Amino acid sequence: MTIPARRHSYANDAPVRADGDYVLYWMIANRRTHYNFALQHAVDQAKQFGKPLVIFEPLRVRYPWASDRMHRFVIEGMRDNREALAGKEVVYYPYVEPTPGVASPLLYTLAKRSCTVVTDEYPCFFLPDLIRAVKRRIPARLELVDSNGVMPLRSPDRTFTVAHSYRRWMQKNILDVLLEMPKKDPLARVKLPKSIGLPNSILKRWPAADLDSLLRSGGLDSIPMDHDVKPSETIVGGARDAGRRLASFLKNDLRRYNEDRNHPNESATTGLSPHLHFGHISAHEMVQRVLDHEDWTPDMASPANGKNHGFWNTTEPAEAFLDQVLTWREMGFNRTFRENDRYDQFDSLPDWALATLRKHAADPRPEQYDLEQLEHANTADPIWNAAQREIVRTGVMHNYMRMLWGKKILQWTRSPEQALSVMIELNNKYGLDGRDPNSYNGIFWVLGRFDRAWGPERPIFGSVRYMTSDSAKRKLRMDQYLLRFGPMQQDHPIEPPTIRRRDG
Ligand SMILES: Cc1cc2nc3c(=O)[nH]c(=O)nc-3n(C[C@H](O)[C@H](O)[C@H](O)COP(=O)(O)OP(=O)(O)OC[C@H]3O[C@@H](n4cnc5c(N)ncnc54)[C@H](O)[C@@H]3O)c2cc1C
Repeated sequence: MTIPARRHSYANDAPVRADGDYVLYWMIANRRTHYNFALQHAVDQAKQFGKPLVIFEPLRVRYPWASDRMHRFVIEGMRDNREALAGKEVVYYPYVEPTPGVASPLLYTLAKRSCTVVTDEYPCFFLPDLIRAVKRRIPARLELVDSNGVMPLRSPDRTFTVAHSYRRWMQKNILDVLLEMPKKDPLARVKLPKSIGLPNSILKRWPAADLDSLLRSGGLDSIPMDHDVKPSETIVGGARDAGRRLASFLKNDLRRYNEDRNHPNESATTGLSPHLHFGHISAHEMVQRVLDHEDWTPDMASPANGKNHGFWNTTEPAEAFLDQVLTWREMGFNRTFRENDRYDQFDSLPDWALATLRKHAADPRPEQYDLEQLEHANTADPIWNAAQREIVRTGVMHNYMRMLWGKKILQWTRSPEQALSVMIELNNKYGLDGRDPNSYNGIFWVLGRFDRAWGPERPIFGSVRYMTSDSAKRKLRMDQYLLRFGPMQQDHPIEPPTIRRRDG
């Protein structure tokens, strides 16, 4: 095995079948061909069995919040995977389910002929339940591979409740983990037996997706899902766009990341959260490229101290960026992996936050909005409305605005429980990066997770951190943002400064 043992586990104890026709990689979360431990392991297995490799990338219909927006993004990723795998000695089988349930027997049919099935381990959304349901019935051995973050999911032995303690632990362990990076291209210089392809009986019943047709205008119309959530006006899915964004960030924006990232007028961040969510780029590559950009070597690291700057001894902006990816992002994965059955439950908040929110649950709410008013950006607060319009139209929301957005929802809804369900609904319905450990990380942060009590105690919020639109407006440059996402811009294309427009 060329992948670290702690990234690998067996979901069942079915025997391997050395006389199978191929090794199957069931690609469900790390939808990419580079820096992907699961693909790397599938290649290792194919080499070991001396069998062809089949990469099966399905997209089902019946998942919560399925819409044209999410589907298009995933299919754009499939197009890039098809291109990256063209000419390689593997079978790439992208499959888009036309109606709910049609694809249910497909995995089992493919698995029956395989030596072993390798898949992605992902600790959030419907995927853990899917694995639980499949592992008992699949007629093959099922292997899970964790390629989610730089820190393996199984490395921490506890659930961290504050960033400082996670960061200190991460700093103690990260240098060893950096020695275990995935291969850039697991298929480079690999010789696998040639496959004659999948049997006609399978392809006739479940034809490979016609990606180009699906990406044409109206191509998704026949799939029964939410067609009102339109594809993003500004963000293209897939590994190619992710690579372009990362290169542009390193060249133009990294140097101003710590100074400008909080200003909504600016695009000083990577904009890569949708690509990270759908696995079109890996955190490993992002971290590696930033460290290379900084000419970093391991001897530059300081002793672990839990501080959010100074550990790497790189430039300030690079320290700030590495902290977002390696502390804030991965702390969310730590939580969802270890508390898989309750990370989205209100009572998973820390005791102090539950107590103060409950104490103030019955406080009068002078201003109240229901889900529909919020969804349509129909509040009296133009700053909040702009943030809501941004996510509805583009599929992402500026980082600073997300915090303000959530705090106002807490203030304007009937109860903190209702605030939670409204945030989850709007974030996951419109955000390309929604339904992610980071989604729950951010939403629960609004309600006090990973935070501490703040004084003075206020109505509704109690001692949960409070934010106002007025102070955000005073502190931040946002005039252009408010224009760009103002009510009059509804019918006009949006051209944010550094985000590329759809190219295909
Ligand atoms: C209420 C609320 C909801 C949120 N919902 C989501 C969500 O659905 N999906 C999502 O990916 N993030 C979410 N976040 C976290 C954060 O806002 C986004 O990760 C960030 O804005 C993504 O922009 P970027 O990719 O340009 O980030 P960059 O600044 O370029 O950072 C690179 C990566 O680091 C990670 N990162 C950056 N900031 C944070 C942060 N504050 N917390 C955790 N990880 C971070 C992300 O993976 C991000 O893509 C939410 C935050 C809040 C407060």
